[in-house]
Amino acid sequence: MKSIPGLFLLFLLLISNLSVSQNCSYVIVIHGGAGNIRPENLPPLVASTYESKLKEVLRVGDSLLNAGSTSLDAVETCIRMMEDCPLFNAGKGAVFNAEGKNEMDASVMDGKTGLAGAVAGVTTIKNPIRAARAVMEKSQHVMLSGKGAESFAKSQGLEIVAPDYFFTQERWNDYLKAKNKADSIEIIDKKHGTVGCVALDKYGNLAAGTSTGGMTMKRYGRIGDSPIIGAGTYADNNTCAVSATGHGEFFIRNVVAYDISALMKYKGLSLQDATSEVIMNKLKSQGGTGGVIAVDKNGNIAMTFNTPGMFRGYVKAGGEMKVALYGEK
Ligand code: ASP
Repeated sequence: MKSIPGLFLLFLLLISNLSVSQNCSYVIVIHGGAGNIRPENLPPLVASTYESKLKEVLRVGDSLLNAGSTSLDAVETCIRMMEDCPLFNAGKGAVFNAEGKNEMDASVMDGKTGLAGAVAGVTTIKNPIRAARAVMEKSQHVMLSGKGAESFAKSQGLEIVAPDYFFTQERWNDYLKAKNKADSIEIIDKKHGTVGCVALDKYGNLAAGTSTGGMTMKRYGRIGDSPIIGAGTYADNNTCAVSATGHGEFFIRNVVAYDISALMKYKGLSLQDATSEVIMNKLKSQGGTGGVIAVDKNGNIAMTFNTPGMFRGYVKAGGEMKVALYGEK
C-alpha cells in the first residue's frame, strides 16, 4: 500500500515529461509567393536559385527555433532575409506601382497575445516587417501607413533607405511590360513573389507575418491584403497561424486568414480542410488566385494554393525539410 503514492508520483513525472517533450517540437513554414509558377516558365538555374534561398531561410528559422527563439523572432528573421533578397517581391525586389514606384506593405501577429502590427504604403523602410513588429510592440496602434509609418520607423531606429534601394532591373522590366500591355493589374500570367512565414515554437506559441510590394501596376496608394490582419495574416494560439499570397482584393473581401481560423474554431475543421475550403472552393469560385501557408497549434502544416505553383517550404524539429515550387502531380 505504501508504494502507491510513490507509483503515483512516478506516473505524474512520466506524464509531465511526456508533455514537455511534445511541447519541444516546433515547425516553421515559409512562402515566397504564388502564381503562374511552372517548370516551363522557370529556367532550371532560376528554379534552383529559389530553392536554395528557401532552404537557406528555413535553415536559419530552424536553428533559431531549435535554440529556443520565439516563433515571433523566427518569423521576423525569416521574412527579413526574404525582404533583403531581390528574388522576392518584398523589400529589395518589390514590384512597381502604376507610377513606377515601390510601395510596400507588411504585417505580423502574435498568436499568444493576440497583438498585431502592420505598415502600409511605405517607400523608405528597408525592412517593412521590422516596422510592422515595432508598431505592434512600441505603439498603441495596429497599423500605420505612408509617411507616418516611415517617421515612426525612423524614431524606432529602424534602417531608412532611399526609394531606389528597392529597384531591380527585372521588376522594372515587368513594370514596363505590364504598362505597355494594359492599364490593369497583372494577375495570373506572372509569379507574384510576396513573402510570408508562420511558426510554432517550443513553447506552443504561434506567429504569422507577411511582407510584399503588392501587385505590379497597382494604383498609387492601393493597399493589399498583406498588411490587413485577418486577410493576409492571422495567428491565434487556439487555432492556427496563416500567411497569404495572391490577388489581395479577393483575400480582403473574404477575410481569408481569419476565415481559416474561424472554420477551425467554430466548425471544428482540420487545418487542411479549412485551408482547402477557403482557397480551393470559396476563393476559386470567385476567380481569386493565390494560396496560404498555415500551421496549427499541434504543428500540422498546410500549404494550399489554387495557382499553378507557390514558392514554399517547411522545416520541423528533427530536421525534416521540404521545399517546393510547383503544384504536386
Ligand atoms: N497579396 C499581395 C497583394 O495583393 C500580392 C501577392 O501576394 O503577390 O498585395
